[in-house]
Amino acid sequence: MRTNMAGVSRKPRTDLFEAFPDTLRRRLKAIIRHFLDSSFAGPKLDPNLPSIAALRIINCNATGKSVPFYQATCDVERHANIFPFYVIFKTGFKILRQFLITGSAPVEQDHRHTLAKLLNFIMAIEKESPLHHLENCADEVSLNVLLTNHLFAMLCSSSQFTMDNHLYRKHDRYMCPCGSDECELTGKCGDTSIGNTNVWHGNLDVILNSNLPVKFTSLGDGDYTNSDDETKNKSPVNNCANLNRKASLKLNQQMIAEVIVFSFLNKKLHPCSESYLVPCLGSCGTDLVVYLYDAQHDVLLESCQFELRNKTTGALNLVTIIVTWLVVNYRYTCTGLTPYMMKKSNFFTSAKEKLQVYQEDLKFGCVGLSEAEVVVEVSDLPWNADGLKDIDDELDELSKYF
Ligand SMILES: [Zn+2]
Repeated sequence: MRTNMAGVSRKPRTDLFEAFPDTLRRRLKAIIRHFLDSSFAGPKLDPNLPSIAALRIINCNATGKSVPFYQATCDVERHANIFPFYVIFKTGFKILRQFLITGSAPVEQDHRHTLAKLLNFIMAIEKESPLHHLENCADEVSLNVLLTNHLFAMLCSSSQFTMDNHLYRKHDRYMCPCGSDECELTGKCGDTSIGNTNVWHGNLDVILNSNLPVKFTSLGDGDYTNSDDETKNKSPVNNCANLNRKASLKLNQQMIAEVIVFSFLNKKLHPCSESYLVPCLGSCGTDLVVYLYDAQHDVLLESCQFELRNKTTGALNLVTIIVTWLVVNYRYTCTGLTPYMMKKSNFFTSAKEKLQVYQEDLKFGCVGLSEAEVVVEVSDLPWNADGLKDIDDELDELSKYF
């Protein structure tokens, strides 16, 4: 028994990795086997054999004059080959597999932290989680916020996120919609705009951990009306439109535009990254899909759809939990493209006349605001120009003592 400096004995801290129940460990092993079996994936995207397809762009309006995401069009078709989902997340599977075999924590601190998020999450949902009661959500906005706060953010190495302030602020959703007095959002509303007003641009629904776009399909998607449409955000969750939302995850043109822009932006902001393959997570409330784009190799990928809950039992689907964990932590889990996945999407050709804008002139924040609006936005911050004068005075004062 250890003692602290005051000589009082204390129990050793229970190690999460040692305490992880054998029953769950066995279930995770079976899940890994399920992913590995997908190496025999057939010619179709199949959630029973988690798979991913490369897409080819036939026609798009990426060079149109100032096209917001909700008006983006991008007709695509799938390349013939379908790949197993795990091949681009080999590092993540290795972290998980190593733990399941040895029972011990990963040596690298970031891997240990990331795996701990998954194990804690799985143990917690065994007991209780608002994710078991999604049907109680009053509307789409509540559902989207709840999924972000209780699923995506909880599995991510950092639980910080930013929600589009146009879509969420006016609905007064600062509190977590799960209804618990003790539950707070780990994210906030803010500016999620990316792109360039000369090309594709707009507000992302959610940016997770500053590096992952999340897109929620809505009942109003596809009619190209403004995303502020009142009716779509107040629609009940349980209605037949859910089927349309589910179908809208397939070959989703807006998600494709968003992930392409985000990847180019990521490449510009992090020019020394080992891989520029960036995912975008899409959800319709009941299912998830993942799109990925590599702005260096011009490769666009679409995953099969993953159901959040088992149709028969209603239990949360562990395969989908693992997929979500791999995607939201892609900086640690993604291996990047393998040589046989280098199937061009033709975006470079399709956007040839404005490719330079995508490569050099995209930005993060204040996209589409007039100069006057940008000034108003900045002046809201505590470190505005007037405030700096006070800080200078304080620094002068402090300098007397050093
Ligand atoms: Zn909550």
